Amino acid sequence: MADDAARADASAAIEAASSELRQVSLSIHANPELGFEERHAHEVLTDLLDAHGFAVERSAYGVETAFKAVAGNGGPVMAVLCEYDALPGIGHACGHNLIAISGIATGLGLQAVLGEGNGTVVVLGTPAEEGGGGKIALADAGAFEGVDAALMLHPAPLARAGGGEASGLAGPVDGLVRPLMTATQGLAVDFYGRPAHAAASPWDGLNALDALVAGYSAVAMLRQHIRPDQRIHGIITEGGTATNVVPEHTQARFGIRGRDRAAVDELRVRVLACFEGAAQSTGCRLEYRWGASGYDDLRTNGRMADAFVANAATLGSTFATAPTNAYASTDMGNVSYLVPSIHPMFGIPAQFANHHPGFTEAAASEEAHERTLTAAKALCHTALDLYGDADLLAAAKQEFGETV
Ligand SMILES: [Zn+2]
Ligand SMILES: [Zn+2]
Repeated sequence: MADDAARADASAAIEAASSELRQVSLSIHANPELGFEERHAHEVLTDLLDAHGFAVERSAYGVETAFKAVAGNGGPVMAVLCEYDALPGIGHACGHNLIAISGIATGLGLQAVLGEGNGTVVVLGTPAEEGGGGKIALADAGAFEGVDAALMLHPAPLARAGGGEASGLAGPVDGLVRPLMTATQGLAVDFYGRPAHAAASPWDGLNALDALVAGYSAVAMLRQHIRPDQRIHGIITEGGTATNVVPEHTQARFGIRGRDRAAVDELRVRVLACFEGAAQSTGCRLEYRWGASGYDDLRTNGRMADAFVANAATLGSTFATAPTNAYASTDMGNVSYLVPSIHPMFGIPAQFANHHPGFTEAAASEEAHERTLTAAKALCHTALDLYGDADLLAAAKQEFGETV
């Protein structure tokens, strides 16, 4: 365990930056940007790190909106991850503006107490979590080589402690420290038929919309016969161009999720069969494309999670320790297969879950900001434990080796 003076100094550094961090968080919130287009967030976050003396590399690892900011030197090396992409139409409905400042806050806390040669903190700006897999691109470019452990936080509407439950508002900081996030894989399907006048000569046509609807319906029937922790969900992105023309081309996108990569692979075969059958029965041609890289399930490191829970408790925050399935997915899952990782979820007062406009509103609240800083202090203290306690880091690595 890190000594109390270091913890206090780190917390003080985070607290001292509170208003700066709040400003940056609100600025990102007010300017929501989609994955790989987060130019404003990239600018304000790197400017802040620069102003605080981090060695900042903008557009790191060949990704325009990624960054790397380093403080301290020597080993061990801890990576603290920021996210800052938004969702189409509903802005920061996943609260990534809070994740962004949680990473910076943690970095500032560590920078304040890492003495000469005691270790390095790398604050990584990881774009496009909502589907683009920015962390996978960074990992492929070597971002996690030489990293001993990776840490990040995520907000959620976890309202389970301390009196706020009846009102639907969260009580004290609370969360699922070991969310079981599923593996996921994207699928794009295209059907090609033959156009014809829909009334005058429909017998000359091959209906690509019929093919897509048949495939969609088959997937809907398949859903009854999949495991409770598997998911299939999708949208039709092209359904034809005119009511009086037999649709020649249609298109849809799906997400397929399961407990781990093997479960997703098993489900992929069954989903694809739905579309292949539809192609055969309608005479249309199917083209499909799997997403370039799926997301792995999240392998939360138990030793690091235990340290985080203990640190949060000393800050007056209660985190549930039992694994609970969040049914969401994250590219942090891929990172968790590369290095020992944690991705604790902390509660903010929200009456709606992530990806709902109500959560967008919650992510800008003053209370959410305070919760974010408290969670960041706990994460920072956990990193201090890993720097200062070689046995803990070794145990975390041993567990990682045994479970991945
Ligand atoms: Zn999200
Ligand atoms: Zn998110």
